[in-house]
Amino acid sequence: GAAVPALVANGLGKSYGGVRAVDDISLTLGAGERMGVIGPNGAGKTTLFKMIAGDVAPTDGRVELFGRDVTAVPTARRARLGVGRTFQVSNLFREMTVLDNVRVAARGGTAGARVFWRPQGSRDQVTARSRETLESVGLAYRSDDTVAALSHGEQRQLEIAMALVGDPRILLLDEPAAGLSAAERATLRELIEQLPRTIPILLIEHDMSLALGLTDRVMCMENGHHVVTGTPAEVRANETVREIYLGRR
Ligand code: ATP
Repeated sequence: GAAVPALVANGLGKSYGGVRAVDDISLTLGAGERMGVIGPNGAGKTTLFKMIAGDVAPTDGRVELFGRDVTAVPTARRARLGVGRTFQVSNLFREMTVLDNVRVAARGGTAGARVFWRPQGSRDQVTARSRETLESVGLAYRSDDTVAALSHGEQRQLEIAMALVGDPRILLLDEPAAGLSAAERATLRELIEQLPRTIPILLIEHDMSLALGLTDRVMCMENGHHVVTGTPAEVRANETVREIYLGRR
């Protein structure tokens, strides 16, 4: 039969007092699929991400990971189920080296409640895997530098390495390009493009061209609501999306 989807969100909603941050959002991320969520500031993208990652409890609806209802499962336990994720506010140990940050993440360090789903092995194995992961994101040359010495873009690469080192079964990326220069954005785009296709990716991103260039399917949100879901070409051609992104609404 068909593979169990990596992620199913069903009728997700979140209210903050009178503010309906997210209203009735459903999505399915299939095995090996890459999906983007776009929308202007305040669309509810971050709140949706947090409900999927487990940082925020939904007011309505349900989240399933790998066929299992995790709506009431806390973030750390979702990580143990195989969720690798990045954070909008950087969660790095700034005075530690790049390699040590990855090693902490590999051991299930608590910087971002990263607790991984597989036994992590010996100290040497953890170091070897951390080095390999840094290599795979193009950051090996920075291994012995402190995080404080890294550029913004390099810090974003490191965050992705820390999400990858636990061998995730799904990757959740929260606005990875936010605050990056055009050159840093291009590097990041290449990095995400060359990630293994076996890892399904949900990418929340304000930058429409980045999200459309990296994903198989895109959902656009506005004011907490679903606008359209389709291929990048379909979403790019959508009249409402054009109006939103040209600022005519
Ligand atoms: P951005 O691109 O700025 O991250 P977004 O699409 O991620 O925007 P959210 O941050 O999810 O949007 O916010 C959606 C709406 O919910 C906004 O109106 C916001 O003010 C409101 N909101 C979000 N978090 C809270 C909170 N903790 N308390 C009250 N209102 C909130």
